[in-house]
Amino acid sequence: MLAAIARVCDSQTFILGPEVEALEREIAALTGAASAVGCASGTEALWLALVAAGVKPGDAVITTAFSFFASASAIVRAGATPIFVDVDPATLNLDAALVGRQLRDRRLRTQQAEKISAILPVHLYGQCADMDAFDRISQEFGVAIVEDAAQAIGAEWSGRGAGALGVTAAFSFYPTKNLSAYGDAGIVTTTNPRMAEHMRQLRNHGSPRRYYHDEFGWNGRMDAIQAAVLRVKLAHLADWNRSRQQHAATYDQLFAGSGLISKQTSSQTLNESSAPVRLLARSPQAKHVFHQYVIRAQRRDELRQFLAERKIGSEIYYPLPLHLQPVFSYLGLNAGDMPVSEQAAREVLALPMFPELTEAEIQRVVESIADFYS
Ligand SMILES: *Cc1c(COP(=O)(O)O)cnc(C)c1O
Repeated sequence: MLAAIARVCDSQTFILGPEVEALEREIAALTGAASAVGCASGTEALWLALVAAGVKPGDAVITTAFSFFASASAIVRAGATPIFVDVDPATLNLDAALVGRQLRDRRLRTQQAEKISAILPVHLYGQCADMDAFDRISQEFGVAIVEDAAQAIGAEWSGRGAGALGVTAAFSFYPTKNLSAYGDAGIVTTTNPRMAEHMRQLRNHGSPRRYYHDEFGWNGRMDAIQAAVLRVKLAHLADWNRSRQQHAATYDQLFAGSGLISKQTSSQTLNESSAPVRLLARSPQAKHVFHQYVIRAQRRDELRQFLAERKIGSEIYYPLPLHLQPVFSYLGLNAGDMPVSEQAAREVLALPMFPELTEAEIQRVVESIADFYS
């Protein structure tokens, strides 16, 4: 890593340049997308992805109510209005059936509201949203699919890589992500080379050549030290993702033997299960990369406190759904409008998950959870 950083220092090319271009080629190859465009953060990547996909001021973009804030704030920065839709109770990914209904309802209304120009599904926790369903919706309604793949580098849907499933996709290399930089960085992938050219211009002040400006871009560039660090780590990503999958399988097995869980299926209603712990469903088409291993727990906050006392870290992704964030009050949404997201926000708990985790540590986590409920 230090040698890679030294190489950049010697080159004196600190912004974009050959390291960033090499990373762009490597990420395009990994995801199966035609091109990749390195940028300053995952949030920046989302904005570039939306604008390149054709989202214009005054448009609307459908996204999930249950994600990190940037999934929605990038829509606002593109000048559009987010339309929040609830999640599938089994996976907590954007519910494609509800999205389809939303689009059909709008089509029936004669007084057309703002144009819905894109749908932004988030591959939450490292598992792809139902991309078969979103493909069908995209074709039926002529709406672009933009992936928020910030948590899903290396993930697949039916053998196709996250990042090549929509027209554009955003990845984050924030230091907690499966592939992480030594600071902020992100990348956009696209299946459309023309859009890649547009994004290269947008990330660099809308400037096709120095000091000539065709449109309002921004400084959204990636720096070369981040690219050099990422290229060293990229060689290990497949191994790390495999380790995460093994750890998830160990958690699954230990939970199955613990008497704590019942597996929730999509046909069950929300409150049907009285088990203290529930696992999320795994889509058979998905290669899940377990950015997080998340359970739904009764008395979640007490459990989290109990684990903290035993020095076991855990985190809540996310404690408040997006439609209830104060900054989105102008949308006029209320508690009760997205019941699945709201219940998930009360129940989800992410357990320790990283490649170096040991089986003994996983055992201690599950035993501690069992102790809490006994
Ligand atoms: C991390 C993350 C982002 C933002 O990425 P940054 O690099 O922190 O800007 C966007 N969406 C989701 C779902 C994320 O997890």
